[in-house]
Amino acid sequence: MRLAVLKERRASETRVAATPETVRKLVGLGLTVAVEAGAGAQASIPDGDFAAAGAEIAADDSAALAGAGVVLAVQMPEPEQRGKILRGALLLCIAGAYGEPGLVPSVADSGIDVAAMELLPRITRAQSMDVLSSQANLAGYRAVVEAAAAFQRGFPMMMTAAGTVPPARVFVIGAGVAGLQAIATARRLGAIVSATDVRPAAKEEIKSLGASFVGVEDAETAAAQTAGGYAREMSEAFRQKQAELMATTVGKNDIVVCTALVMGRRAPVIVTEPMVAAMKPGSVIVDLAAEAGGNCAATVAGESITTPNGVKILGYRNWPGRIAVAASSLYARNLLTFLTTFWDKEAKAPKLPDTDEIVKGVMLTRGGRVVHAQFLSSQAA
Ligand code: NAD
Repeated sequence: MRLAVLKERRASETRVAATPETVRKLVGLGLTVAVEAGAGAQASIPDGDFAAAGAEIAADDSAALAGAGVVLAVQMPEPEQRGKILRGALLLCIAGAYGEPGLVPSVADSGIDVAAMELLPRITRAQSMDVLSSQANLAGYRAVVEAAAAFQRGFPMMMTAAGTVPPARVFVIGAGVAGLQAIATARRLGAIVSATDVRPAAKEEIKSLGASFVGVEDAETAAAQTAGGYAREMSEAFRQKQAELMATTVGKNDIVVCTALVMGRRAPVIVTEPMVAAMKPGSVIVDLAAEAGGNCAATVAGESITTPNGVKILGYRNWPGRIAVAASSLYARNLLTFLTTFWDKEAKAPKLPDTDEIVKGVMLTRGGRVVHAQFLSSQAA
């Protein structure tokens, strides 16, 4: 069976869905691997390294996809490129299933079987395939590193002969995978760190990393975590209480790292314009939620801006893509683990039993139909 690795087409996408290490293992499974020329260029992987690992370098996407039964990508390919994928082929990618209305039925119509990696259940058995975790962890690290670079004072307390530089105060909003890594990174750099979240479990995790917890705790937060581990969308009454607390918290900090997301919905707006206006000049807000609408009302998605009162807001899209080498390496391993877990050694082909919890959670389309429970209605529409 032939497996194609596509070069990403979307702006700001620097990652690649395979590395020489995973190509070697894919070849070991009995696959013929075709990598589109230049696929790894932005992740510092020359074509020659893929070739040395056993891949055929295809001149373009048509050549890579010709006859491919499995396709690996980071983002969902655009419609024109999807038209080149064989009906019945298995496509592993971050499908963006919630982001684009009409996408899921259109993909089903094209006959591609899509494993939407962002829908993977957050269960122990799936941890090593969990692209949201592998990428969010790196995004959290990168957010702090970029905040530190943009902040003109430094993170640790520095006692010098010329005087003392005080430590930076960092506030992390959302203590999931990205937020916890942001806390750990900011602590390693010597900042004084605090954080907030709505899920009750997050409080202890924040404290275990040496940060202090600042947050509303009420009956609603006690039930804020869904069975899938995600946060619920909070009520207007909660948002009011949270806004009052944030109004006195945000301005006391030099750096605010925003990571709060609600699966399948727009990100909650937690840092309002007046809160930004109350921050000191030179403060930095990093909004990892920018692509989902932003946790900060003043964020401009895809851009770095400075507000009239001198606050820098980094609202880049695709934070994992800003650390492309590590992000590609972990993403590629996530996909390899998925394929090897669901691999029929005799047939040398994927085997995806639809009774398996992971398969049920991750498969978006199969055999020309929408199969994921959360998107069945999109097919009828
Ligand atoms: P996420 O990216 O969906 O959200 C980031 C954080 O924002 C979450 O902690 C969430 O609670 C928080 N948040 C949402 N709305 C908020 C609001 N209004 N105010 C403040 N904070 C808000 O989350 P994630 O990082 O993907 O993690 C989601 C869950 O999955 C966590 O419970 C995590 O521990 C769990 N998880 C489990 C596994 C596993 O067992 N395999 C793997 C990874 C993550």
